[in-house]
Amino acid sequence: MRPALLNPLFAQVTSLSGIGPKQEKLLRYLLGRDDTPRLVDLLLHLPTSVIDRRAQPKIRDAVPGTVVTLKVTIDRHRPAPPRNRRAPFLVYASDETGDLVLTYFRNPPGMVEKLLPVGATRYVSGTLQMYDGTPQIVHPDRVVDEAGFAKLSGIDPVYPLTEGLALGALKRAIALALQKLPDLPEWISAEVMRRCGFPTMAEALHRVHQPLELTDVLPDGPFWSRLAFDELLAGQLALALIRAQLRRPAGNRHDGDGHLRKRVIDALPYALTMSQRQALAAIAEDLRQPVRMLRLLQGDVGSGKTVVALLAAAAVIEAGKQAALMAPTEILARQHVKTIAPLAEAAGLRVAILTGREKGRERRDILAQLEQGEIDLLVGTHALIQDDVAFKALALAIVDEQHRFGVRERLALTGKGEAVDVLVLSATPIPRTLVLTYFGDMDVSELREKPAGRQPIDTRAVPASRLSEVMDAVGRALSAGALVYWICPLVDESEAEGTGHLTNATERFESLQKRFGDRVGLVHGQMKGAEKDRVMAQFAAHEIGLLVATTVVEVGVDVPAATIMVIENAERFGLAQLHQLRGRIGRGSEASTCLLLYHEPLGEMSKARLKVIRETTDGFRIAEEDLKLRGEGDVLGVRQSGLPGYRIARSDVHAQLIAQARDEALHIMKENPKLGGPRGAALRCLLYLYERDEAIPFLSAG
Ligand code: ADP
Ligand code: MG
Repeated sequence: MRPALLNPLFAQVTSLSGIGPKQEKLLRYLLGRDDTPRLVDLLLHLPTSVIDRRAQPKIRDAVPGTVVTLKVTIDRHRPAPPRNRRAPFLVYASDETGDLVLTYFRNPPGMVEKLLPVGATRYVSGTLQMYDGTPQIVHPDRVVDEAGFAKLSGIDPVYPLTEGLALGALKRAIALALQKLPDLPEWISAEVMRRCGFPTMAEALHRVHQPLELTDVLPDGPFWSRLAFDELLAGQLALALIRAQLRRPAGNRHDGDGHLRKRVIDALPYALTMSQRQALAAIAEDLRQPVRMLRLLQGDVGSGKTVVALLAAAAVIEAGKQAALMAPTEILARQHVKTIAPLAEAAGLRVAILTGREKGRERRDILAQLEQGEIDLLVGTHALIQDDVAFKALALAIVDEQHRFGVRERLALTGKGEAVDVLVLSATPIPRTLVLTYFGDMDVSELREKPAGRQPIDTRAVPASRLSEVMDAVGRALSAGALVYWICPLVDESEAEGTGHLTNATERFESLQKRFGDRVGLVHGQMKGAEKDRVMAQFAAHEIGLLVATTVVEVGVDVPAATIMVIENAERFGLAQLHQLRGRIGRGSEASTCLLLYHEPLGEMSKARLKVIRETTDGFRIAEEDLKLRGEGDVLGVRQSGLPGYRIARSDVHAQLIAQARDEALHIMKENPKLGGPRGAALRCLLYLYERDEAIPFLSAG
């Protein structure tokens, strides 16, 4: 149970005045949350820089390219001509030394008139530019009157924002959240506090959000560092707690005599690759050991992880036990079953599927068979970890696409058997340095070779202005019998708010359907599972040739005959995601083509990303380039720069702190592994604040 002390911080942001449904949605997006953000999420959203508004020159002395605050009189308005929405609304202002133009694009009607009435005195603040010899400020980030100016702080933090969310609104919300901060106990040891010169968490939060000095928000300064250490300590402590739990001697050995594995291998229409065989040998060795297996099987998309997973399952089934395979989406779970079913049948393995869709009678039957040991391998989604799912003898938990699951889900599955061995499948090639921070202490097998007979993928970047040519080409390919994916970043318009000009799948589906008729299908994450499957099946069966989709097809979907993929707004996708998406083609014996449609102008980062993805299909190389391009931040699809799963700590600035947090966590595990007493209570608060509390239920079980 979360300590009551923390409740104010876990209140939803909508409880703050000024945060309505619209802001809530934008904050969700900004803070990368699936649910309504809480005050703690706001407080841990740190500024990236500060603006010094203490400089208040006259217009004549203001330096172009710098942020200035100017006291001006509003002289006249020049609204955009009625028929030209693109033209700006101009406000002419002046002080005794010169003129200034304030420029607003696409402002809501009446907004500027109200903010800057003619004749009034205003303080305006923003980046000064010269335009046609006249100083101007485009969209000033502050406009206040005398009274407002008296309240304005001279040093103003700047936060990462999302379109549609005003800096002022975010700052007001954070200020309100700061007022709700309870008196927190100290969880860092006195010795570390002294050695590192840390302030308290409360002081750190106040100083980064309401800086008194320009240096207060620097990542290597004491305030940010304190918060980074907290976050790292929470992460390291949670991993240590889980590790202590999982690494206990199992006593059980789960290896069979190999007869089922042999039957599966005999039924394969291909030979296993060398790295598949090596991974299987390592798994078999793990299963023989009296300590639990905790192994990560990394392999690029299409490298053949599923068959390795099946053979691992066969090994424990030979020993009379059961296995479970959990996938993050229903499409993926069904895909696995499709791949596995014929092989399982040939080997005499009993496989069943359990997702949110198996209900009522059907579900009850599956659960009963499972409990009686009449099912050997159960494949499914989150549905597998529901409370009433009980195995007769679960010995192996296989978790696919792990980084989409929290540690909580992984543990929930392993809790359904005695000393369950764990095999994690990941299609994101994670550089070794990151494996430890993210997964903890795991053994790693890599599938580096591609199965034989794969054709290369021809990848090209095409500006969106050539969309009609692309459509023509797709039309020709369709007529020639090709299967084509068409990927869009959004589902529909309702999502588009605050995200700029992104193409939505629903609209694109309609325009393609107009042109190609019933050869076009649509899948996206908001559709019902059965509906999604039906469309995917139609595509696989070639009843439709063109599948418009969102990133739901990103993971695991396997239609080997598909040879063309168009990705819209390719500039908006991360490298790892582009690689995952593209991995849906080039899986068969035919040559494939991937077209990356982008909107101009391209930023430097987008340009570099598209270049990498054009040049190589090697997932490990892409992961390395990704790491170089943006630091370790987003290799796992995590926001901002920093460590995966961490939002404050950064590998470049806080490398020292990682080691110290690790030491501190190990020290705590030695001295106080059950987190008892006042220090233990404080540490539990820490785990909750940074959402590492999944480790807490295991304290008592220890
Ligand atoms: P992923 O690693 O992306 O999960 P899959 O397990 O889905 O890859 O395998 C991709 C495809 O490659 C499947 O159609 C599978 O049958 C096939 N495959 C797996 N191993 C081999 C192999 N050694 N030789 C040829 N094809 C293979
Ligand atoms: Mg797979």
